[in-house]
Formats: sequence, structure tokens, C-alpha cells
Amino acid sequence: MKCGICLESASCYRYGARVCGKCGIFFRRQILNPKPVYCKYLNNCGIENNRILKCKFCRLKRCFQLGMQTDRINLFSSKPPEELDPTSVEHIIYAQVLETLLDVCKEDFEGTMKYLKEGDPKVQDVAAFRFNQNHQLKDLSKRTKIWADILCRHNILQTELPLLFKVFVSQFALTFYRIYIKIKTSEMDMLTARFMQLESMCQRLVNNM
Ligand SMILES: [Zn+2]
Ligand SMILES: [Zn+2]
Repeated sequence: MKCGICLESASCYRYGARVCGKCGIFFRRQILNPKPVYCKYLNNCGIENNRILKCKFCRLKRCFQLGMQTDRINLFSSKPPEELDPTSVEHIIYAQVLETLLDVCKEDFEGTMKYLKEGDPKVQDVAAFRFNQNHQLKDLSKRTKIWADILCRHNILQTELPLLFKVFVSQFALTFYRIYIKIKTSEMDMLTARFMQLESMCQRLVNNM
């Protein structure tokens, strides 16, 4: 089997994807020691144009695309949480996903309601599509920076994003459309304390919009 990033041989799964040892170490280092990275080209560096190993941005993006998960790394083995960097690619990407989702929700009220009531994923699909179309890490709005900072401070992990979306959108509906939407109890039960933390965070964000 070959590494999904650089095509070197990969004997096992690392952090959730089949990648070689070097790419596994790369991912771990980027997450434990996050620094802002940019692509000098069009965010399209790959193995086919021989740039994937030279461009940290595209290599890291590929890691996330392959499903590598930050919570499989012991994030705090070498650093206390307060030293995490809100300008890391990971947090900025999460913040931009949130921002795009929110824009889509604002435009599509009915779709938003369907998403909340029936779990219709259209809103999320449209947001994901638009995010992929416009993905440009250099254009950071002030809002994105604030969100990236909050996501970082609360240590929001990749696996928590779907729940965060729902909580966020339900707070959004409550504030802007005065509609109360109950989130599935099973989702809340997963981690009640965490859920409440996310909820108050989303409330503050929505109130400041
Ligand atoms: Zn590799
Ligand atoms: Zn690149």
C-alpha cells in the first residue's frame, strides 16, 4: 500500500489515514507546533506536479482530506493548551468553515430550518461546496480571526465540528428568527458539560454578529 500523500510505501494507518512515516511525522509536528502556512501557488500542489512535499499548506490540507485526525495525537504531550496558536491552519480552516456555513444559513432560511429539524444536510453541503470554491487562506476577515481564536481557546477538535455546527445554527435561529430548535438529546448526552460550553460560546458569537 502507498502513502495517500507522497506515494511512498505505507505499512499502516497513522492518525486515521494510510500514510508513510514521514508524512505521519509531518502531520504530528504541524499540529503540535502550529504555524501559519500558505501556498505559493493555487492550493493545488500534489504528487503529480511534484510539489506536495515542498508545500506545507497543501500537504497539511491533504492530511485533513485523507481523514487524519488531530485528536488521535496527544495534543498536550509537549505543550500546555494555552500555547496553542489561533493562527494555525487547522483553526483558521475551521473558522472559515463556520463563517461560510453561517453565510449560507443567513441566505437560506428554509434550508436552515430543514437542517435543524430534519437533519437535511443541504445547508452543510452548500457551505462545504462554497468553502472549497473560495478557499483562500490569505483573505482573513476580522470575524474569521476572532473565531479562530475562540476555537483555539476552547480546543475544538475536528470531530466536534458537526455538533458545533448544529449548536451554532440553533443559536442563530433563536436570535435571528426567534425559533427555538431542540437538539437531539443523544447528541447532548454525549458530553453534557462540553455541550453547554459549546452552547454558551455559540451564544456569545451570535450575539456579537
Ligand atoms: Zn508520505
Ligand atoms: Zn501548495
